Amino acid sequence: MRLRLLIALLAALAFLPALPARAETPELPDRIAAAWRTDHLSVDGRLAIPETELDRIRAAMRTAGIPVYVALVPRTPYLRGSRSDLPTLLHARIGEPGVYVVAIVDADYWSTTAELYRPAGLRGRDLTSVRSADKQRLAIVSDRPAPQVVRTIQQASTAYDGRALPPVPAADLEPDRDGSRDGGLSVSDKKDRATAVGGVIGGLLAFVPMLVAALRYRPGSKSTKRGSVDKPPIEPSRVRRQADGKIRQAEQALARLDSRRTKSNAQLDQRDDAYRRLDAARAVRADQPDDVLALAGAFVLARQAERVASGAALQPPCFFDPMHQPGTIKVDWSDDVEVPACKSCATAVGRGRTPRGLRVLAKAGLLGRKPVPYWTLDPEDSPMVASGFGALSDDLPERIGARQDEVR
Ligand SMILES: [Zn+2]
Repeated sequence: MRLRLLIALLAALAFLPALPARAETPELPDRIAAAWRTDHLSVDGRLAIPETELDRIRAAMRTAGIPVYVALVPRTPYLRGSRSDLPTLLHARIGEPGVYVVAIVDADYWSTTAELYRPAGLRGRDLTSVRSADKQRLAIVSDRPAPQVVRTIQQASTAYDGRALPPVPAADLEPDRDGSRDGGLSVSDKKDRATAVGGVIGGLLAFVPMLVAALRYRPGSKSTKRGSVDKPPIEPSRVRRQADGKIRQAEQALARLDSRRTKSNAQLDQRDDAYRRLDAARAVRADQPDDVLALAGAFVLARQAERVASGAALQPPCFFDPMHQPGTIKVDWSDDVEVPACKSCATAVGRGRTPRGLRVLAKAGLLGRKPVPYWTLDPEDSPMVASGFGALSDDLPERIGARQDEVR
């Protein structure tokens, strides 16, 4: 009896390596791209989607006015955490302008992520800003794929050629459950969403806010000369101009890379990484066009995208002020914490001073607002503060993506 059990166990063990435990995972973008060569609507073989759903998606694709690529896939471990990159990775493989839509199903909950890539040089509205302005998007049902995918295609057409966004058919909208709707989500839904997003990225990011908390108050450090502290903080319009300039340069560098006939694997990786940064830069610029932190984040990400697309090495920003020259020198900031700094900030720290740093207006009592160094703000409120604009952890695009999923 025992022997038989042992044999059964051994047989089971011998069988284990043959199980497709993590097969297929890294090649998902490749498989979708291959399927798109014959049909721009790719449905994963593990899914059974009713023809009526597929017909609706195809009809929307035909009338979009731009090339549309749609993939319907089940949520796999590969898609946890890297979901927002997928359209970018797919565009890198196809290399054609158009809207890239990926709809992912988890049990019977569909979620959709998309990016719009225009022909080089053509400018228009950002897909993210059309999405943000579409008040109906949060009320669209999530128990089947077509409503969200069709809406996303319509949003892309609006962003692309300025056509008006049609109303969502009533059958695609969730019935109003309790009348306390705010843009389609009840307060408890929003809480659930936020918790779910937090759960996905929490493990990875949790330590950084603590690190920032340690950085916020540096014991025993002298502050800068009195006069410079009272200088007004930088104007949003100035940061916006600089961010927009960098975004244009990054777009040009990427267009140059895209126009190469043949690309090495290293260049494909550079393109993926540059698009990821540029997309996050555009998204945060579109979402918060008057916020100094968001605009400075867009500037940093676009500058990195431009370098990476040009084949140069990635550089972290200066921790103290992301608008400074990149942080090419490591300096000791507080106990056990090194931060990248530009030459002038490194010199200041070397002399025992706290660099003036990027200052933003923060609430000060009942009287109004006063300029403070950005790193004294609550990291919970901004992915830029939490990551030191990517100086403390090079994950600003993911943090921005997670924040936007939370808002959606
Ligand atoms: Zn600096």
